[in-house]
Amino acid sequence: MPKYVYDFTEGNKDLKDLLGGKGANLAEMTNIGLPVPPGFTITAEACRHYLGHGRMPEGLEEEIGEHLAALEARMGKRLGQADDPLLVSVRSGAKFSMPGMMETVLNIGLNDDSVIGLAKQSGNDRFAWDSYRRLIQMFGKTVLGIDGELFEDAMDDLKGEREDTELDAGDLQRLVEIFKGIVRERTGRDFPACPREQMDLAVRAVFDSWNAPRAILYRRQERIPADLGTAVNIVAMVFGNMGPDSGTGVAFTRDPGSGRQGVYGDYLCNAQGEDVVAGIRNTVPLQELEKINPAAYRELLDIMATLERHYRDLCDIEFTIERGKLWMLQTRVGKRTAAAAFRIATQLVDEGLIDMDEAVTRVTGDQLAQLMFPRFAATAGDHRLTTGMNASPGAAAGRAVFSSERAVELAGQGEAVILVRRETNPDDLAGMIAARGVLTSRGGKTSHAAVVARGMGKTCVCGAEELEVDPRARRFTAPGGIVVNEGDVISIDGGTGAVYLGEVPVTPSPVARYFEGEPAEDELVEAVDRIMTHADSVRRLAVRANADTPEDAARARRYGAQGIGLCRTEHMFLGERRRLVEDLILAATPEERQAALDALEPLQTGDFTGIFAAMRGLPVTIRLIDPPLHEFLPDLTDLAVKVAVAGDAADDRDRRLLEAVKRLHEQNPMLGLRGVRLGLTIPGLFAMQVRAIAAAARQVEDARAEIMIPLVGAVQELEIVKEEAERILAEAGVAAAIGTMIEVPRAALTAGQIAEAAEFFSFGTNDLTQMTWGFSRDDVESAFFSRYLDLGVFGVSPFESIDREGVGRLMRVAVEEGRRTRPDIKLGICGEHGGDPDSVHFCHEIGLDYVSCSPFRIPVARLEAGRAALTCAQSDTR
Ligand code: PEP
Ligand code: MG
Repeated sequence: MPKYVYDFTEGNKDLKDLLGGKGANLAEMTNIGLPVPPGFTITAEACRHYLGHGRMPEGLEEEIGEHLAALEARMGKRLGQADDPLLVSVRSGAKFSMPGMMETVLNIGLNDDSVIGLAKQSGNDRFAWDSYRRLIQMFGKTVLGIDGELFEDAMDDLKGEREDTELDAGDLQRLVEIFKGIVRERTGRDFPACPREQMDLAVRAVFDSWNAPRAILYRRQERIPADLGTAVNIVAMVFGNMGPDSGTGVAFTRDPGSGRQGVYGDYLCNAQGEDVVAGIRNTVPLQELEKINPAAYRELLDIMATLERHYRDLCDIEFTIERGKLWMLQTRVGKRTAAAAFRIATQLVDEGLIDMDEAVTRVTGDQLAQLMFPRFAATAGDHRLTTGMNASPGAAAGRAVFSSERAVELAGQGEAVILVRRETNPDDLAGMIAARGVLTSRGGKTSHAAVVARGMGKTCVCGAEELEVDPRARRFTAPGGIVVNEGDVISIDGGTGAVYLGEVPVTPSPVARYFEGEPAEDELVEAVDRIMTHADSVRRLAVRANADTPEDAARARRYGAQGIGLCRTEHMFLGERRRLVEDLILAATPEERQAALDALEPLQTGDFTGIFAAMRGLPVTIRLIDPPLHEFLPDLTDLAVKVAVAGDAADDRDRRLLEAVKRLHEQNPMLGLRGVRLGLTIPGLFAMQVRAIAAAARQVEDARAEIMIPLVGAVQELEIVKEEAERILAEAGVAAAIGTMIEVPRAALTAGQIAEAAEFFSFGTNDLTQMTWGFSRDDVESAFFSRYLDLGVFGVSPFESIDREGVGRLMRVAVEEGRRTRPDIKLGICGEHGGDPDSVHFCHEIGLDYVSCSPFRIPVARLEAGRAALTCAQSDTR
């Protein structure tokens, strides 16, 4: 029988799969001798069993009983013991941090008897009754599913004009009775007095909270697998609400916004549990603890230094001080902004804690992409409304909205919105996802809004205290009486904390300017430079660009592209050249067709010359024309109307065009006359393109052309095109490799044959994904993808990240069989997946030679290729 329960002394930080992040790190801290309240962890495996079978695994109850008995023996008191109760917290903790998404219940073990014992033992009636009312409130909401507002409203009624802290023991005792009444009324039974029953029900509720809607939403956003389950930690309670010499706080060992070393955190006197993160009362900066309790402050700083050395990374922590004694309640390697991630990684190298290989694995392509976002222009100052805290960087502008629902609604209509709240809580998650940025008037850098926004890479300004936010009236008032109503446009700067009225213009970020070739002039850019240089030195995958114009090619080269992996040629047939394509389609005789092709050829030669010149010395893969020809013709309805309205006076060309449009109309153009099929059907079309490539290659010194045939499904198709192309190239005296895209499942399955004719393969994973799944992207993305994501059919769109099991399997087959036929075959990818971090790792794993992506994604692909080389065994890119 598996072991389902681990004492904190039995675990360690590497057991996150089993014990969750919180449990593993509590065990680690216990074992390095830090002051952690005793406790034990029920594994995520037990949760998976419970969720899968609808009941607790056999033997779990007894195992919990044994660990509880050991805990009681150690503490010298029993759970809920009437004269001196042991109280415990029941805390969720999954492998990946999901801040505030799942449940936690504190003060388990209190009932009408033990509350008296607690009051006597602590000598503090108010504290005991406050703890009891918190238990009923939290338990009622999370375990019994009662609407939390009922408790809050009852408390507000009792308080009147007073603060929470002004309620005395008698008030709180009365509140307990009222709360018990709410429980009775809403559930038809009394609040459970039995401590063990309380605990068991709370454990069950934490397990269930894995599937709460907000947890599901968060997992989808963060790409956390849905089947991990959560562990549960049972921890002996320590109390931050025992009076002025008690309190609770959160801290970071470095600034999670900038990476600078120092003391960063918030402290709340005489408070319990989640009060700080929830931003319910205003906290004081952690530095003030030095005055409040110098000994505990010094101990905390020592512990923070120990944790940094031990984890060799930024840690965030939660702690409680109970009557002057410091307790550690949680630590983990902390979330940080993209800029801080790069700075911290190189700082740790300089401090000798990690090497450059590890530094590269400590940052991600997504973080790099964030650093390349534009910033607000410096001239924005004119319309500044206020400045809050720079909680999560970036520049965001949009319409102010004051509720999560409204954010989702307007974003769904394509509007950019900024979610404005006093503070956020886990119920705001959907609105935060929908919004471009988040602005709050309360809460510090460790508030819910700040932590979640940083995790999502979303711009956030928090604690803008000068703003009076009125969510009911859907407006806020800024200093000077300026009122911003729902729908008004505001701009927020997550780098400086500034809030502006109206839409502020943006400028390129220093990191983007660095990639454009400017020297590294600040610490962040230097950190990026060091990490990119090292990633380039360790990566095996080459990185190429998808670029169709000399300008894009030049940018790609500046960004570090080692060639062009896909030059699409279709845009070269648009604009004024459309008429030449029409001539080609309307040609009635071979002579007319040739005349149309002859007119196009010099134009194409010019196109290719510019691109070869920009990429001199580097390979340029030119794909022959792919889309169906009717895409170059006028719209059927428009043309039919034009011809009908003109009647007898209709232009002859229009009539012929209308016939051609009707003739070429396709029910499913994606599966119709396109790609190589077009080349084999329209004589001379591909030949014209190959001649233009050859002519351009002759004009540019050191041009390295590669010719790529799209949509091949059978080797015979490729052979026919290749024979003609080779003849033309030989006549021109130009050497160019000829290869094919692999974008039809049949091509992947017959790759061994196709490699007889192809000198290279490039996986066109856009089409390969469509055809493997049997759906067309344009139709399905708007029709049912969100439903499929909701249903968990896939965790992420297969157009965004390669579907490893399906499309990926076909790729593996093609790689293996292609190489068997032609060991030196060059293998690449040019679908959009080439710039997606997880897909880059997959391409590394299956042994491709290069990835090709849009110019702006090249730095991301370079970095991820480096990370893939360093972390190949572990494919998870988070
Ligand atoms: C592909 O199918 O992946 C590809 C790169 O071709 P396109 O997107 O132009 O169809
Ligand atoms: Mg394609």
